[in-house]
Amino acid sequence: AWTAWRAAWRSIRHERKEKRMGFGNDYLQEERKAELQYWLSGDYESFCGKKKEIYLAAGKAIKDAGHTSPGHSPGGYRNELKYAGDLELAFRIETEEKKFRSVRKQLPAPEYAKWLQKLVRLRNQYARTAGFENYLDYRYALWGIGGDVFARAASRQRKAEKTDSMELRRWLGEVSADHRLAVENQRALFREIDECWNLNGSGIQIHDEDLPGFYIGACVPVSIPDDIHVLINRRPGLSGFSVFMHEIGHGFYYTNIAAPDIHGRREPFNLIMEETVALLFENQVYTDGFSREFLHTDRGMWLPKAEFQLDYLLCCAEFEERIYRKADPDFDAEWKAACAFTGEEEGDGWTKPHFFVSNPGYFAAYFIAAFLAKETYRYADRESRDLFDFIRNEICSPGGALAYEAFLEKVLP
Ligand SMILES: [Zn+2]
Repeated sequence: AWTAWRAAWRSIRHERKEKRMGFGNDYLQEERKAELQYWLSGDYESFCGKKKEIYLAAGKAIKDAGHTSPGHSPGGYRNELKYAGDLELAFRIETEEKKFRSVRKQLPAPEYAKWLQKLVRLRNQYARTAGFENYLDYRYALWGIGGDVFARAASRQRKAEKTDSMELRRWLGEVSADHRLAVENQRALFREIDECWNLNGSGIQIHDEDLPGFYIGACVPVSIPDDIHVLINRRPGLSGFSVFMHEIGHGFYYTNIAAPDIHGRREPFNLIMEETVALLFENQVYTDGFSREFLHTDRGMWLPKAEFQLDYLLCCAEFEERIYRKADPDFDAEWKAACAFTGEEEGDGWTKPHFFVSNPGYFAAYFIAAFLAKETYRYADRESRDLFDFIRNEICSPGGALAYEAFLEKVLP
């Protein structure tokens, strides 16, 4: 009788746990496991196959359960949207994307345009099957980017001071010669930073050997907050090191999420907040403080670096806003218009950034995050607060329970 009772109790407990975890958690975690394998091995075929299996199962489960959208906090991630719409079409698009990415640098511009045009059309078609007007709206909803935050940040950024990029480049070249930024010394440098900034980074698993070379860095949380992986193909110099710190920023965010969301899970709030933290870490290596403490100079270039990055991101985000909301956009003309809108040089043009092919909508998220990172940094400075305490206690720790509007009010004066 004792054993039977125990078995019954175990099954009740299991059921309760399922409820608490909420719908979709298992699918998310399965996808992350597959994703980690992909970054470690570079085997895209297996990843894509596995992912498709997971998505189709999740999509079916949602339909069978009559689930529409589970409750969510405004502006928070809506992971259930991953499994909405015509998933067969979604994976046809993904395959197309992958083919395009592998040859895009060799393509002449007209062919490039044709292929991107086709992708934009297919993506918009998919978005409509998921109940959205166009693919950008779909992605923004999925990532929890609501309301007018893009327009608000864009109009402020357009008034910001322009960066002298020549001076920034000169400075970067100078400080990057420091032997501490050589690939073989970056691990030791990170250990010192970890200690100095009190990051408690030892919980993050760092992989930096024998990785496929097609990316610099990635961060995958298999389970939050206790199984977080940063993968890094080290590059020399301050820019190379800042990418590593960016990924550490993601890791720091996940490992410091204390408050669970309404499903009882510890998950990030939305893509913007996640990237904001990562960018705060990335840009921290451009501060006077970092230069003084760790490099051979006492002058940083934090603000010029932040502004430089912001103008470029805004230009790319504006371009995408234009090409997804028009029926037959002319890419050259839209790029010109986006550059004029932001005061950017037309430079290498719209065929340069791979995110237009690989991650539509990401530039807007990235831009808003970079803008918030700048304003968060200035806020902490104004209020004489320790930046890392602020990040830990007021962004990471609330996790899925973050009071987003209140946060925006605070850092956007
Ligand atoms: Zn990131």
